[in-house]
Amino acid sequence: MPTRTPTPWRTVLPAALLSLLTLLGTGLPVRAAEPYAGPLFDAHLHYNDEAWMGPHDLTDVLGRLQRAGVRGAVANSRPNDGTRTLAGPQAAAAGVAVVPFVRLYRHRADYQNWFRDESIYTMVEQELATGTRSGPYRGLGEFHLYESDNANGPIARRLMQLAEARNLVVLAHVDDRAIELLMAHAPRTRLVWAHTGIGGVAIERVHTLLERFPTLMGELSYRPGLTGGDGRLSPEWRVLLTAQPERFLIGSDTWINPRWSAYEALMAEARQWLGDLPPQAARRIAWDNAAGLFALPQPSPVPTPPSAAAPEQAAPGARHPR
Ligand SMILES: [Zn+2]
Repeated sequence: MPTRTPTPWRTVLPAALLSLLTLLGTGLPVRAAEPYAGPLFDAHLHYNDEAWMGPHDLTDVLGRLQRAGVRGAVANSRPNDGTRTLAGPQAAAAGVAVVPFVRLYRHRADYQNWFRDESIYTMVEQELATGTRSGPYRGLGEFHLYESDNANGPIARRLMQLAEARNLVVLAHVDDRAIELLMAHAPRTRLVWAHTGIGGVAIERVHTLLERFPTLMGELSYRPGLTGGDGRLSPEWRVLLTAQPERFLIGSDTWINPRWSAYEALMAEARQWLGDLPPQAARRIAWDNAAGLFALPQPSPVPTPPSAAAPEQAAPGARHPR
């Protein structure tokens, strides 16, 4: 899917109207909605060393995905061994479509230097050439830029161009300024904005960037202001997600093991706020957008989960450990 077709909302939803709708939305009574009950695609999953070498072996994590109704996931890990473990026949047998991404980090020190480190580019090329048991890598990331200007680092630029040339999806944890810089390197790249601005950039700015870059999508884990203390979708996000459901994805961001322990609860939280959206919009954000992005088939009937299931099923609404 090299390009996205223009969508009608872009002609009918200028920023001023979005603001007006948001204003109106704040005055609307919140209906008591049922949680979204369909399939989920987790677009931001890590399976790092400390998870699979520690308490979360492959059987554990696949059981969690199954119990949460997650039927597909982007997998990436530091280093890439975890992804190669996850992207195999056991996940397929569990009814989970694994979409492998190449992580740019061999170890934590690479977070700070990958964007100017030639050896990272070489490692990415080698990973792409090797692939996984589930097939070729489909994307690059998640990578982080803690300073926007590092988006102009030579390896950041070349990796964006590589992604564009090979039709790879990029998962980037960056700020709004770095989105502009990255897209300037390779304007047709399909870029998923991890957390859609973890610093809480204004929702109007999110809307502006989505309008400007048709291949940009937002992943919503940890997004400040998405929900209120009650776990319900905030009025302004309800307006934006209802207007542009084709531009967003959900994710767990299992960056540390406590996120794995809370996995089912995190997905229950997503189901809760997805339930505040019109059903078609919820389904797009929960599954259909990822299915389109990665050309996934409709999920098959759910295989029977392991019978020793759910010893740690956490209460819905449990707070995220940070
Ligand atoms: Zn992450």
